Amino acid sequence: MGKHIGFDASQVFIAGRWRTGASGQTLPLLDPSDGELLTHIARGTTADVDAAVNAAQAALEGAWGALTAAERGRILLKMSALTLQRADELARLEALDVGKPVKQGRADAVAMARYLEFYGGAADKVHGETIPFANGYTALTIREPHGVTGHIVPWNYPMQIIGRSVGAALAMGNACVLKPAEEACLTALAFGHIALEAGLPAGALNIVPGLGEEAGAALSGHRGVAHLSFTGSVAVGQLIQAAAAQNTIPVTLELGGKSPQIVFADADLDAALPFLVNAGIQNCGQTCSAASRILVERPVFDEVRRRMAERYAALRVGPAMDDLDVGPVISPRQRDIVQGFLAIARDTGLQVAAQARLPASLPAGGCYVPPTLLAPAEASHRLAQEEIFGPVQVMIPFDGPNHGEAEALAIANGTNYGLVAGVWTRDGGRQLRMARQLHCGQVFINNYGAGGGIELPFGGVKHSGHGREKGFEALYGFSSLKTIAIKHD
Ligand code: NAD
Repeated sequence: MGKHIGFDASQVFIAGRWRTGASGQTLPLLDPSDGELLTHIARGTTADVDAAVNAAQAALEGAWGALTAAERGRILLKMSALTLQRADELARLEALDVGKPVKQGRADAVAMARYLEFYGGAADKVHGETIPFANGYTALTIREPHGVTGHIVPWNYPMQIIGRSVGAALAMGNACVLKPAEEACLTALAFGHIALEAGLPAGALNIVPGLGEEAGAALSGHRGVAHLSFTGSVAVGQLIQAAAAQNTIPVTLELGGKSPQIVFADADLDAALPFLVNAGIQNCGQTCSAASRILVERPVFDEVRRRMAERYAALRVGPAMDDLDVGPVISPRQRDIVQGFLAIARDTGLQVAAQARLPASLPAGGCYVPPTLLAPAEASHRLAQEEIFGPVQVMIPFDGPNHGEAEALAIANGTNYGLVAGVWTRDGGRQLRMARQLHCGQVFINNYGAGGGIELPFGGVKHSGHGREKGFEALYGFSSLKTIAIKHD
């Protein structure tokens, strides 16, 4: 099969048709496992974004807007079934494009299908309310689509992020313009083919690949867009919010984190250990909810460090298609960022507790970095504060009265981020005290990530962003509430 893509990746998808972008220009797409050219994608421009927004608006006024909620749901369920049927092919595309080991890409494809299933099933179950009001009135609320929604997506989990944001937006009857990341576009484009095949009316989904500062900026500043959802870096998220402010539209931002897993001495360490490591190295650490800080109560710190180190030593790193534990990072730029952090660790005397080996046989052009466990670290160290977005975890000890609860909380809450936290303890009171005082959007007790938790609202506080995706809550974010008051006597 080699690096066969299976479709022309150099086109934009507008009004239900594949066509060459307005500029005719393309961008190269590279395989991070070996640095080789995979294919070319369209370099979308303002003209393409204009056409996509117009097509979306026409869909709202035409066939897409005329469907009932149940009919929209059925189309999403068909898209879900097609996604599942193609899970192996999607996983292969993601392996080539993102450098994601095949089984991790397959899990993403299955997750995308599940998002489409969840939102397909929910499409006709979002109800308004009647409100007890003044005599002689009947008052009620209805939920309406925003209109044209813009979706700016990163390269790390294209399928999952498209599933959760485009899936929910379509369920509520919005028409979407999707701008995938320039580093990884293939599964977004494959999603366009799935939509066509499932019978999604033309214009309900439009896809404009291209550079962030071109196609992305054109979309985020477009006056025809009524809602923006963005996942990516804090710096770009702030630009998106500023652009949304210019048009006074709502925006959902998911901007990553520095998420802790907190291990108390009474924890079931056998249960915790796989989660402690996997949540740091999954997708080569390029996960917004990566558990990049491991906080451990001092009496078990050495044991946890030793047992995590054993797991690190066993990690196998290699090309995505070899389907090992860890693949490459997305790009030479990301590799340089991660290596820069490792250099800071070295220069500041941060101790390497374990480092996975990079085999000599790795392709020279690949973007590989060694998964690295650093311990012990001060909570204020740069590597314990900044998002690295690579397979690097720091361990921080804590102690004090009441098993160090107060210190653990101060460390956990002591970064600019607040996305996810994990707590490992058998003490029920401590579980709830910690969960209530952690400043973040999700807390997992004696697990981490709940296996993806498509049903569970997800999002952050502070620099991790605002708004909630996933679960039923996302349907409220992708709709606008209208109140109707009827005076009848
Ligand atoms: P990024 O924020 O630059 O890119 C994300 C998306 O935004 C891409 O589609 C990109 O084309 C688009 N974009 C970029 N500039 C834009 C602009 N001016 N206007 C509109 N859209 C624009 O992220 P990145 O460069 O891919 O990664 C940089 C860092 O971001 C990473 O190191 C990581 O810390 C973080 N990140 C976080 C997540 C997450 O899931 N929260 C995902 C990817 C990256």
